[in-house]
Amino acid sequence: AAMVLAVKWSFLMITLVLAMAENGVIGRDGAIPWRIAEDMKRFKALTVGKTVVMGRKTWDSLPRKPLPDRANIVVTRQTGWSAAGAVTASSLDDALDKAGNADDVMVIGGGEIYRAALARADRIELTEVHGAFDGDAHFAFDRASWREVARESHKTPDGLAYSYVTLVRG
Ligand code: NAP
Repeated sequence: AAMVLAVKWSFLMITLVLAMAENGVIGRDGAIPWRIAEDMKRFKALTVGKTVVMGRKTWDSLPRKPLPDRANIVVTRQTGWSAAGAVTASSLDDALDKAGNADDVMVIGGGEIYRAALARADRIELTEVHGAFDGDAHFAFDRASWREVARESHKTPDGLAYSYVTLVRG
């Protein structure tokens, strides 16, 4: 049984999909404080066909629930919480168990869930938003523990600069 478990875990790749301002802000009043249409498309491209794990507050923030063409797992401490189209999990570990044999688990926020998943993550698909924003949801991680393997820089039509950065451990 131990060997079977080792094989299973060796294939489970955990990715944080995260958009963050330069001051660490990721959210404000239950929403994302900027509007970058291209980043929404990238989010979709990165997550479609995969399992997404999110905190209950991020689930509540979704305009369209569940996220289509993805297995949606929602982490909550509320016993008996359920929602149509979501699998409920009581912890990050429970969420990863419920991801079953998925090869790729995409952790899509928010702050509390990123913090819970950071130590387990293999990869971060980061959108750096080049500005400081007001917010009430933050995230931080030690960049020195991560190696940048890709970077692409862009600007929105109204001039907000942002970069897609892929980070792997090491
Ligand atoms: P969150 O992480 O989305 O959800 C927090 C909730 O998840 C908790 O209240 C609890 O739900 C549950 N939870 C968290 N950790 C848990 C654990 N270890 N075990 C069991 N349940 C756990 O909330 P947040 O940190 O406030 O983030 C939400 C904000 O981030 C919003 O503004 C959203 O728009 C933003 N966001 C930004 C991005 C981005 O990339 N910029 C991505 C996603 C979200 P219960 O209260 O139900 O027990």
